[in-house]
Amino acid sequence: MKDKRERLKSFFLEIRDCRECALYRSRNRFVFGSGSAYAEIMFVGEAPGKNEDLQGFPFVGRAGSILDELLESIGMTKKDVFIANVLKCRPPKNRDPQSEEIDACKKYLFKQIEIIDPKIICTLGKYSTQLILDTKDGITGLRGKVFEKDGRMILPINHPAAVLYNPSRMGILKNDFARIKGLLDSDHKVGPSIASTQKQIDKETNDSSRSEKDSEQLGLF
Ligand code: URA
Repeated sequence: MKDKRERLKSFFLEIRDCRECALYRSRNRFVFGSGSAYAEIMFVGEAPGKNEDLQGFPFVGRAGSILDELLESIGMTKKDVFIANVLKCRPPKNRDPQSEEIDACKKYLFKQIEIIDPKIICTLGKYSTQLILDTKDGITGLRGKVFEKDGRMILPINHPAAVLYNPSRMGILKNDFARIKGLLDSDHKVGPSIASTQKQIDKETNDSSRSEKDSEQLGLF
């Protein structure tokens, strides 16, 4: 079996020309994801915005600066984790993802999760939380609670962009981030006996230059 980095690279090359929903028509770049293929923590956002679409990397705009600050607060950088989105292409004018777009794209995220096999998935905001936990519940009631799914921990937290509209949310996000490291070292055993079930496990705490571009996009893995 090829190692995770090689598998992720091959997967990127296989899907980067995706035309399975209409978003390919307006995209500049397919935003696969970035970070370490061996990460224990994976962050899942919503969809690329303007800067992400232009640069080909997730979370490189204003929400990305907030994510950098949050990672720094727990002694990490983007290279220590893997970051992806529910959608790989930017919705026009940053509108909300549509259900047919999510349906077309979700298999890519699920495959990335299978390859990377992180211990924790931190879902950022409503769309990734609802997709990963397969629920219609809102983020407000799920935020800060730890769930178990397919043998890994899922921690829904607010989307970093929330801070742009309401700076007082930074405190809550920092507290939620502070829990990530503890969870990595914790005794939450999520073995095969409860694999595939989903339950809350912590109730108290809540083109001409294409090849150049490719290596650039793959350089971080
Ligand atoms: N917001 C997201 O959800 N993802 C990005 O990549 C950037 C902003």
